[in-house]
Amino acid sequence: MEKISNAYIKDYTTYKLDGQIKEIVFPESIQELKEIITMLKSKKYKIIGNGSNLIISESYDGTLINLKKFDKLKIKNNIVTVQAGYSLPKLAKECANFGLSGLEFASGIPGTVGGAIYMNAGAYGKEISDIIKNVTVLDEKLNIKKITKEELKTSYRDSIFKHENYICIEAQFEFKYKDKNDVLKEIENIIKIRKEKQPLEYPSAGSVFKNGENYSAGRLIEKAGLKGTKVGDAEVSLKHANFIINKGNASASDVIKLIEIIKKKIKKEENVELILEQEILK
Ligand SMILES: Cc1cc2nc3c(=O)[nH]c(=O)nc-3n(C[C@H](O)[C@H](O)[C@H](O)COP(=O)(O)OP(=O)(O)OC[C@H]3O[C@@H](n4cnc5c(N)ncnc54)[C@H](O)[C@@H]3O)c2cc1C
Repeated sequence: MEKISNAYIKDYTTYKLDGQIKEIVFPESIQELKEIITMLKSKKYKIIGNGSNLIISESYDGTLINLKKFDKLKIKNNIVTVQAGYSLPKLAKECANFGLSGLEFASGIPGTVGGAIYMNAGAYGKEISDIIKNVTVLDEKLNIKKITKEELKTSYRDSIFKHENYICIEAQFEFKYKDKNDVLKEIENIIKIRKEKQPLEYPSAGSVFKNGENYSAGRLIEKAGLKGTKVGDAEVSLKHANFIINKGNASASDVIKLIEIIKKKIKKEENVELILEQEILK
């Protein structure tokens, strides 16, 4: 199994933060995944997909298990079976080419299938759970089990994966048929809107905070005058207040300090406790 010691965080995450972590491994099969978890026993480890929702600190002393080699895809009529490491935007495009509609919203979400299911990733009023039929997981006893859409208990940026020690291995989605050109056009449109509204020219991990039932985190941050606030090379984007961007050599500690500044000011001015959407590994 491929293993890299002292790996650069920037090579495995979209924030591209400074620093190195102890090790990262790339299992190629369920057997290898079971072996590495058994070997690590009670040691710290973390499954990662594309690292597009993670703030990884140099002080993290566990092993990262990257599932990018779980990348098989099978399309049979409108039922798509895909492994956890498959890229979400690539899947959206691939399905669109077959006239399969349902994942257009995800074309600008740079995660993997596994990471998206963990997060119940969503945009523009749609979520990945909308098209899920079932998910194959490795449970805490390393048994393979198939869970239904209902058992996933998804809600806004939440699923059973955040509460149980499950690893997503594979998912089955049910798409709808549409005119291929309409699906491709919708994807193009979504990518265009994202480019206009999001600071995609800089590394980030998307929205920093979740929206509340009656507030938009970005609007509160903008109203508090925090756009452009910096700690080291981490900056609150001028284009989208709910994005922190890495303007060069930001570290996890810069991003975390900036998050604290934002949270404190919004608590003081709006009496709102912002809830982090991104996840810190330290
Ligand atoms: C520019 C940009 C735009 C974004 N826009 C959106 C958006 O519109 N909507 C949205 O929801 N998100 C958005 N995101 C955030 C991010 O892309 C999503 O949350 C994505 O689903 C994370 O997937 P990942 O593979 O990168 O997961 P990672 O960041 O690698 O991991 C995230 C979590 O998932 C867990 N995980 C990953 N794979 C597995 C697995 N196989 N089994 C169990 N757990 C697993 C990890 O342990 C971790 O806890 C954006 C990010 C960026 C950089």
